[in-house]
Amino acid sequence: MSVPDANIPVPDVGACALCGSPLGADDERCRMCGMVVGIGPGNPNPFSRGALWATIGGLVAIYVVVLVIVVVLN
Ligand SMILES: [Zn+2]
Repeated sequence: MSVPDANIPVPDVGACALCGSPLGADDERCRMCGMVVGIGPGNPNPFSRGALWATIGGLVAIYVVVLVIVVVLN
C-alpha cells in the first residue's frame, strides 16, 4: 500500500499579493482573503483609472450644481 506523497510539487502559478496564499491557475480571487488575482505591485489595478475619473466627474458635477444654485439664488 502506497501513501500519496504529501509534498507533491504544485505548479507555481503565483501567490496572493495581499496575504501570500498560493493561487490556483483558474482562481480569479484569492480563496483566503478574496483579493482579486492580477492586482499587485507589478500589475496596476485595471479599475483604478476608471474609478479615478468617476470620482473626478462626480466632484465636478456637484461643483457645477452648487455653482448653478448659488448663481440662481443671487
Ligand atoms: Zn489572499
